[in-house]
Amino acid sequence: MRTIEHWIGGQSVTANPGRTSAVFNPATGEQTAELQLASVETVNQAVAAAKAAFETWGNASLSQRTKVLFAFREIVNARIDELATAISDEHGKIVSDARGEVQRGLEVVEYACGVPTLLKGEYSDQVSDGVDLFSYRQPLGVVVGITPFNFPAMVPMWMFPMAIATGNTFILKPSERDPSASMLLAQMWRDAGLPDGVFNVVHGDVEAVNTLLDHPDVAAVSFVGSTPIAKQIHARAIASGKRVQALGGAKNHSIILPDADIDFAAQHLVAAAFGSAGERCMAISASIMVGGIAEPLLDRIATMAREVKVGNGRNPEAEMGPVITKASKDRIESLITSGAAQGANLVVDGRGYTVEGFENGFFVGPTVIDGVTTDMDVYQQEIFGPVLSNIRAASVDEAIALINANPFGNGTAIFTSSGEAARRFHREVKVGMIGINVPIPVPMAYYSFGGWKDSLFGDHHIHGPEGVRFYTRAKAITQRWPAPRTDAAASFHFPTAK
Ligand code: NAD
Repeated sequence: MRTIEHWIGGQSVTANPGRTSAVFNPATGEQTAELQLASVETVNQAVAAAKAAFETWGNASLSQRTKVLFAFREIVNARIDELATAISDEHGKIVSDARGEVQRGLEVVEYACGVPTLLKGEYSDQVSDGVDLFSYRQPLGVVVGITPFNFPAMVPMWMFPMAIATGNTFILKPSERDPSASMLLAQMWRDAGLPDGVFNVVHGDVEAVNTLLDHPDVAAVSFVGSTPIAKQIHARAIASGKRVQALGGAKNHSIILPDADIDFAAQHLVAAAFGSAGERCMAISASIMVGGIAEPLLDRIATMAREVKVGNGRNPEAEMGPVITKASKDRIESLITSGAAQGANLVVDGRGYTVEGFENGFFVGPTVIDGVTTDMDVYQQEIFGPVLSNIRAASVDEAIALINANPFGNGTAIFTSSGEAARRFHREVKVGMIGINVPIPVPMAYYSFGGWKDSLFGDHHIHGPEGVRFYTRAKAITQRWPAPRTDAAASFHFPTAK
């Protein structure tokens, strides 16, 4: 059995082995590795390594930093298939989808390569007589990323390229369910010439996370995961005086208006609901069909849902893989059962799905539930599986009101050919990321990613310009270089410009 260790100070480290957790291949249902879980001592060792590395990395020139970032970009790009396969084997998603997530992560690396421009400060000449004022931003120190299972490469890559480019040192606490991608990324940083201790990985559970959150030498925490944990992380990190951004769960709605292109909408809804087995924080999990489009659209969606090719992530023919764990499969199937029991109509039922040759895999088939109402469990809970719940609405106003009443506000989309309806939608909806005929509106790296309401705690979105701000703090310097003269005496009143 393969053992997965921590990565501290530029090397693989076995520290205090004792507690471990099992890593599975969700397609076969078999355990593939044993993961070491960090104790308090291991976490302290990682923080000490990152703190020591900050002394030099925080002062490294912008050209030294960008040289490493460009090299890292080239290495990840060259080894993208190796990363994608490792992700697929532990997460279950199809390899082409895994490649896509690495690609989206690389976009953040590419944005971070522009850090000399991103960190340019401001300068005001002669704000008072003989006085100039300028500002620039400095790194925070040791910063931490705690990440979910569903994007084991992309979500950490939302964080660490920005943190490292801006001069911080980084400790990643990845999901314990698919940890291998983070170890590969650590080796790639080493190969790119990143000094030891700038990027570290500690594996673990609540013990490791709480040690990081309480540690006096950790300056900031970026978290992405489910809403209950995001809330806890936010409160605990704030209580210990840290800067924190904690992105939570989602229930992403898509409105389909009667004037939408019906085939286009059907294809995109099926891909957005069932791609990656619905385990995307931007997956469409609720559709709101307005007026008469519901019957013909549901017919098309049901036909296409039954035709989705479900299989092992390494099968190039497969369009959708298994879900992450047996417990997840059981939870999703019991939610589908609750939908039927509470009066919804199971148009396509994915319970009890098996894939030939992978009978022990954690598969759930694409599922379409119509006649869903807001009091049902399938609507109230984040299912995080291949389940599309449909609500019927009489008007666009009713559809917008439904979205705004939902506690989550990560992503949403509208399918329409009306510019007027689309404009009203994007202005009125209380959601952070909005698609117009684009079902999964994940912004590019040079914008920032983040939801509203229970989908994000903290005031900064992640990566892009907000990432630069999150990982740095500003200094404003007021300077005077007086020539020898007699009229420059100090005054005791509050400084005002002359
Ligand atoms: P999770 O909340 O269970 O775990 C996230 C991280 O927190 C993991 O590293 C995990 O080890 C750690 N963790 C879990 N329980 C903890 C506890 N009690 N104390 C401290 N740390 C703990 O989430 P997940 O199941 O890995 O990922 C799926 C969730 O992430 C979904 O809710 C999804 O919507 C969300 N997500 C959100 C975004 C976003 O951008 N908003 C992106 C991806 C995923």
